[in-house]
Amino acid sequence: MLRIAIQAKGRLNEKTMALLADAGISASVGSRSLIAHAKGFPVDLLLLRDDDIPQAVAMGTADIGIVGLNEVEEKNVNVEQVMNLGFGGCRLSLAVPREANYKDLKWFEGKRIATSYPGILSRFLSQNSINAEIHTITGSVEIAPAIGMADSIFDIVSSGGTLVQNGLIEVLSVLESQAVLIATPNISPEKREELDKLCFRFRSIIESRGMKYVLMNLPKTSLEEALNILPGMKSPTVLHLADPNWLSLHAVIPESQLWEKIEELKGIGAEDILVLMLENIVK
Ligand code: ATP
Ligand code: MG
Repeated sequence: MLRIAIQAKGRLNEKTMALLADAGISASVGSRSLIAHAKGFPVDLLLLRDDDIPQAVAMGTADIGIVGLNEVEEKNVNVEQVMNLGFGGCRLSLAVPREANYKDLKWFEGKRIATSYPGILSRFLSQNSINAEIHTITGSVEIAPAIGMADSIFDIVSSGGTLVQNGLIEVLSVLESQAVLIATPNISPEKREELDKLCFRFRSIIESRGMKYVLMNLPKTSLEEALNILPGMKSPTVLHLADPNWLSLHAVIPESQLWEKIEELKGIGAEDILVLMLENIVK
């Protein structure tokens, strides 16, 4: 049975549980329990602080884990990065006070940089031959320059709002992060088989996110134009209707292009357009 380490509470917990639920894995997790048995797939959930997940997986305490790439890179332990999970997006960036006269990385020479990610930062600085003082602090890194603890920061940014509030500007993104699935090195062949099954489920869920299933009635004479408008996975499905002048057309459209495509299709005579949610794309 696979043991999977996930964040007990915090920003990744909810989306991790949602991904597992979509993959048919449900678990009732008590607020104080460390291990939960799941239904629907042979896995146990190990509920940890995200900082501890890379090491738990590297040591084999858990076979696999779901955690931010930022934590994996910071802990720099030996794990297999199995797949990106498409949520928990953020970046680790260097930021300086707005009034700093920043031109390039040389600005950081001899400066104090506050961060909760000393491992990633020190590797980055040495790759770029910059000597700076790293001040490791946990929590509220962004206030360090204002209170005189540091000249700049290296921290997680998502919208950038926190930086603006603290009079800082982002000058360089060092790592693009998202939640990733990691596995212990040398996982046994039996567990690898279970992991492959789990990945297959995750992949079909992730691929279907952001996609819509659209069906419509279309005058037969507009088919050629409709095929040019619709991207389709291979090509849209065309079904005959009782009325020989009309067709039923089915297609999968990325949500980002949905309204634009619908307008174009209406423009060539499409009617009765239905937009449905897609749960899975199984390939
Ligand atoms: P824990 O108690 O498990 O140690 P934490 O406080 O260290 O939790 P969270 O704030 O819950 O961590 O964030 C977990 C992960 O969510 C981060 O490591 C990062 O990968 C991701 N993340 C996405 N957006 C953000 C953001 N705006 N701020 C912080 N983390 C983010
Ligand atoms: Mg943490």
